[in-house]
Formats: sequence, C-alpha cells, structure tokens
Amino acid sequence: MQVPAPFEYARASSVDEAIELLERLGPDSRLVAGGHSLLPMMKLRLATPEHLIDINPLAGELGYIAEEGGEARIGAMTRHREVLESDLLARHFPIMRDAEHKIADPPVRNRGTIGGALCQADPSEDLSAVCAALKANVVIRGRGGERVVDMVAFHRGPYETAVGDAEMLVEVRVPVRPHGGSAYEKVERRAGDWAVASAGAALWLDGANVADAGIALSAVNPSGVRCERAEQALIGRPPSEEAFAEAARLAAEDCEPIADQRGSAEYKRHLAQELTHRALRRAAERALAS
Ligand SMILES: Cc1cc2nc3c(=O)[nH]c(=O)nc-3n(C[C@H](O)[C@H](O)[C@H](O)COP(=O)(O)OP(=O)(O)OC[C@H]3O[C@@H](n4cnc5c(N)ncnc54)[C@H](O)[C@@H]3O)c2cc1C
Repeated sequence: MQVPAPFEYARASSVDEAIELLERLGPDSRLVAGGHSLLPMMKLRLATPEHLIDINPLAGELGYIAEEGGEARIGAMTRHREVLESDLLARHFPIMRDAEHKIADPPVRNRGTIGGALCQADPSEDLSAVCAALKANVVIRGRGGERVVDMVAFHRGPYETAVGDAEMLVEVRVPVRPHGGSAYEKVERRAGDWAVASAGAALWLDGANVADAGIALSAVNPSGVRCERAEQALIGRPPSEEAFAEAARLAAEDCEPIADQRGSAEYKRHLAQELTHRALRRAAERALAS
C-alpha cells in the first residue's frame, strides 16, 4: 500500500501556533518538517495521523545556526544541507560535516531537518549519534514554556523521545569547549544508504590527557546511543592507540546489534569496534591540531 490514509492538513505560521494546533488537534496530530521520514511511513501506513501540521513556514524562525553563550545553537528547522555547509559547525564540530557527507543524498538533505531527524529517533539515524557524542542538549517547547534535555534523557527508545504531546523540539545546543576534536565513521552498503554501523567520537584534552570523551554508535543498538563505559575508559589517560583500542572493545561489547539484510550481528559488532577506534583516532588528531 503506497497511499497514505486520509488526513487533514494545517500550516503553522509560528512556533506558538504549531503548539496551539498540536494541543487543539490532540495526540492524533503530527508535525511534518522535511517529511522524509514521516511521509514514507504514512505511505506504508506505519503512521496514520489524522492531522498533519506543516511547520515549513517556520524555516525562518527555526532555521538558523549561531554561536551564543558558549554554545552553537541550531534551530530545529535547519536542513541537513545547511548543517553540511556550515563553516561554524565544521570548525567547532567536524563530526557534523563528516556525518552529513554520508547522510542520504542531496534531495533528502535539501529538505530533511535536524529536528525531524532527532525526533524520528530511528536507531540507525546519524545525527542522534553525532549529537550524543558531542553531549548536546535539546530545547523542547510547550504551552508551559521550555525545558532543556540532554541526549540521554531525550532518547527514550526506538522512535520514542522526550517530546510530549503538544510539545515540539525547537533548538539543539552544542557546548563549544576548548581543546576538542571529533569525528564520524560510517559503513553503508552504498552511497547515501542508512548505516550498517557507524560511530561518532568527541574528545576534549587537558594538557596531555583526555579530560572528557563522548562516544555514540548508530544502527547497533535499539536505543541509547552513548557508550559510557568506553568513554570512562579514556578519561585521565593520554589519547593513545592503546586507550582507543580498549575503549573500542568496550563500545563493541556493550552494543546490541541484530542481524538483518545489512549484515550479521557479529559483523556489525566488528564494525562497531573498528569504527569507534578510527573515530577516536581521528578525533584525537583534530583535538591535538586545534
Ligand atoms: C532515501 C532516504 C535516505 C535516508 N538516509 C539517511 C541516512 O543515511 N542517515 C540518516 O540519519 N537519515 C537518513 N534519512 C532520513 C533523513 O535524514 C530525514 O531527513 C530525517 O529522518 C527526518 O527529517 P525530516 O525533517 O524529514 O522529518 P519528518 O519526516 O518531517 O518528521 C519525522 C518525525 O519527527 C517529527 N518532527 C519533525 N520535526 C519536529 C519538531 N521540530 N519537533 C517535534 N517533532 C518533530 C515528525 O512529527 C515525525 O514524527 C534518509 C531518508 C530517506 C528518504
């Protein structure tokens, strides 16, 4: 079945109006941003919202990338292409450009948004791993105001986030920290495909040692993309091959891949280890050069 079930369509012209519409139309209403995840699900009738609230008119209000208060702030309607092309993001967080180069293709990147990508919470989605590795926070707005949530609390499970009824994600905030480097490694079956497995890593140095680390995997876990045991194994140690190998082994041990058309669980676990090691090595090179 490639035809969506019937639905009513509304356009929101401001964030406040979008929230008001969500509240009025109830839990069977859904926001649509780029539509690259929601519309295919509707065509397959995996999603059957009764009301679609189009937030593309909010591209002006929520489509921005700015540095403010020690953070990079990315509006929820910022398209993948804008993330890819942002020199500000590439300078502070090269992991973002690494990942965007590997996400889908230009037609998808021209429409798909960072807010839609994170809220879809697909376990194979790349920007969730990127934001988790960078220890980003997201801003969720509802009628009662805004709350700021970290990526661990944001991801509740596959396709499930902390965004409640009549709420929307409005902004992603990534702390800009000194002496940092980050990188993303992905294996896909063909260019633009979803990951067989991927790994994001961020390191922050204090002198000769790792002061903090963020490691997150995609496509090898049902949810919860951060690898905290692997991160802890790096802290206080020099950024060496030995430390990276241990962290990569822990990340692979702690992930829960499943066999599917993209590969066996063993193959994905092997990739998780190898890609984590490579991402850490490249993140460290960048941190040392920064
Ligand atoms: C062919 C193809 C290949 C792809 N390959 C990849 C890939 O390799 N890697 C990857 O990571 N992604 C991939 N994607 C997904 C792509 O990145 C989408 O852009 C992304 O998943 C969703 O963004 P969107 O703006 O299109 O969201 P939409 O489809 O509009 O929405 C997705 C969900 O998020 C909700 N939502 C949207 N915005 C908000 C908001 N501001 N607040 C609250 N809820 C919101 C919607 O209600 C919906 O439930 C691919 C997609 C396609 C079609």
